[in-house]
Amino acid sequence: MSMDFLAPPKSKSHRVSDTPWKILVVDDDPDVHDVTRIAVDGCEFDGRSFQLLHALSAQEARELLSEHDDIAVALVDVVMENDTAGLGLVSWIRSELGNSFTRLILRTGQPGYAPQTDVIMKFDVDGYAEKAELSRTKLITAIVTALRGYKLVRSLESNRQKLKKLNAQFSAIVEKNALNEFADLVLKNFSELAGEPVDGLLCGMESSPKAGAAGSSNVRVLAGSGMFADKLDLPLDIIGEDLVRKCVSECIAKMSEYSTSQGVALPLLTRNGLSGAIFIGLPISVLNEKIGSEIIRLFVSNVALGYEKTGLLEHIRNLAYVDRTTGQSTFSGFLEAFQSQVMAERPLLVIHCDIQRFRFIVDGIGDEKAGAVLKQTGNRLSQTFPDALAIARKEKDEFLILLKGGLHVRIQDIVARIEDAFQDPIAIEENQISLKLRCGIASVEGAECSAEECVRHASIALNDVRQKGLTNHAVFHPLMQEAALERLRLASLLTGKGAQAEFSLNYQPIMQASDEAIASFEALMRFRTASGAMLNTTRMIEAAETSGLIVEIGAWMFRSAFTEFNRLKGLSERVRLNVNLSPRQVQANRIYKDIEDAAASAGLGLDRLVFEVTEGLFVNNDQVTLSLLTWLRSKGAKVVIDDFGTGYSSFSYLRKLPLDGIKIDRSFIMNMEQDPDALAVVRSIIAVAKALDLSITAEGVETADQRKIMQEQQCDFLQGYLFAKPIPSTELDGFINAANGPDLAAG
Ligand code: C2E
Ligand code: CA
Ligand code: CA
Repeated sequence: MSMDFLAPPKSKSHRVSDTPWKILVVDDDPDVHDVTRIAVDGCEFDGRSFQLLHALSAQEARELLSEHDDIAVALVDVVMENDTAGLGLVSWIRSELGNSFTRLILRTGQPGYAPQTDVIMKFDVDGYAEKAELSRTKLITAIVTALRGYKLVRSLESNRQKLKKLNAQFSAIVEKNALNEFADLVLKNFSELAGEPVDGLLCGMESSPKAGAAGSSNVRVLAGSGMFADKLDLPLDIIGEDLVRKCVSECIAKMSEYSTSQGVALPLLTRNGLSGAIFIGLPISVLNEKIGSEIIRLFVSNVALGYEKTGLLEHIRNLAYVDRTTGQSTFSGFLEAFQSQVMAERPLLVIHCDIQRFRFIVDGIGDEKAGAVLKQTGNRLSQTFPDALAIARKEKDEFLILLKGGLHVRIQDIVARIEDAFQDPIAIEENQISLKLRCGIASVEGAECSAEECVRHASIALNDVRQKGLTNHAVFHPLMQEAALERLRLASLLTGKGAQAEFSLNYQPIMQASDEAIASFEALMRFRTASGAMLNTTRMIEAAETSGLIVEIGAWMFRSAFTEFNRLKGLSERVRLNVNLSPRQVQANRIYKDIEDAAASAGLGLDRLVFEVTEGLFVNNDQVTLSLLTWLRSKGAKVVIDDFGTGYSSFSYLRKLPLDGIKIDRSFIMNMEQDPDALAVVRSIIAVAKALDLSITAEGVETADQRKIMQEQQCDFLQGYLFAKPIPSTELDGFINAANGPDLAAG
């Protein structure tokens, strides 16, 4: 019977697929090849077996890599012919061979010989291991992780290629598309000529101006680069930068170069007259110096000719008003409709909606089908609001709807109409895609608010929905704008001279649940104004995050926290330091160096650290986050999810992430005594975490009852005011002494 089982089946289809993953072993030690072969024997991933290729030197590896363009993973010995043979090979693969797909795992026989992190970053190396510590399981785990990465980059690339091919075909057919490409290309070339990215605009006339009729009212933006990248399709008249608008209008009116301190506008002139203008955000003197006036003139006249040759001038109107993907109106069409309605029809309602987690959809089905989803979304909105004054696609997955407003219109009804419209999934070939729309709503009463302002109000409301993630809609309120302004004000406190805020750190202990011994300290930032007032930490961190300053502040915080913590006396080596990482910090390249430098100068091992990150980080499942967390864990640090349960509480993703534990959000702990639902949630969180072998910390434990419940639930760690509030660093030694007191007396 068992022989039957092993006999090759008639059709191979349900066996391991015929194309194995190619894994290249590069090592000058033949034993390593044998050991690796034995280790991976019989392994498979994603239904495909492993095929090993062997190279005994970097040179042999180069030959193999040139021959096979589908090597998924290369395990590279760092030291071979010479000390740098391995790194040389890695550099060759990425730079000269131009292969960015093959995942690279570096191995070395010499303990302590770790390549610089910059090598890892620069050459996109996936892992690094000492041979001695590569047990069979570790090796296979490393390979499988790398294979997963390989699969991902391959599929991303193939989508990109597809899109490129599609665009090429598309533009050949649809002329108006070629026009935009052409316009973009012009600005790109200009940047290339200037040797630096330029802020540029390419404007076209809707129709050739009759003599005497030249004006800027029929001029539209065909392409924008740098600070003007978001101006595509806008009529020149509504561009906010006064000087730029004036510069281009003057150039068009006079049909000649017009120069200001901000930059220069160059007319696109051919025998048939003026067809548009290019604005470049550099003074003409600088341009002349960088490119040379002769070349500029030649370039611009080539552009004018090429522009005319596309023969598409008459399509501009269409281009400006009809969105190519959805067939709906464009943003400029919307603004125009708004302006023309506004006189007759006030009050109005502006609805700005987007599709929840549209990124997932794009990743899942590719750009082309995602375009079809957008088209159907637009169609459904049109069917849902036949009474709309305008419906437009703003950008990406964002739509605008303009409705008659007034007291008889109930927001709830509008939201319900949108929900109903997307009750049924959208069918794209074999896929059934369920969509959820979120919307921000602004009502327009009097005439004091411009079209753009009203749209901005709706956008602020939509942003509020996005940030809070609690509801699917919000109505604009001036307080929302104030909140945004306050964030700006706080951000200026972080940098501003004179009124600068002072930073310091507090430390809150985290206890072992079983015996309530100190397990860790969480470092928490404190901000104080020059006059001594304390600022709200959450709001300051938010401001630092939105303004990007968090990266700089974070570096300071690592240095201070690591040093202060390492100076503490009477702490067991097992006690760790928890630090918070916000998304912006994780995305910054320098985070590796900031952490390493701070640890080195404090003399603190990374294996004493716990990094707290939030669920939001994992929504996009991006490689940057995963690499960082993987790296931290490879250095012995732990990674836990903070505020667990408040975000995208899907358990399924937990299993796949490089994590050690979760911290259950304070809100659940706070409510679980009164609210059976909260308790049930806590129970199920704990059950899942246990099943996944993740440690569990309860935050915000304030009462003895809460402590008891969590201890009964076998929670691992407890943190909260019941044990201690965050403690200023100057008082930490006292706290530790008091905690150690009885032990010291006994010993
Ligand atoms: P978090 O990471 O969730 O930190 C816990 C917060 O809950 C702290 O507020 C702490 O003081 C408070 N807390 C602790 N125990 C209790 C309790 O029993 N009851 C109540 N009601 N509250 C308790 P804090 O210090 O204001 O920090 C707020 C947030 O600011 C932190 O939330 C964290 O997300 C962020 N943050 C603080 N320091 C840093 C930092 O250095 N870097 C980054 N990226 N974020 C930080
Ligand atoms: Ca935290
Ligand atoms: Ca927390």
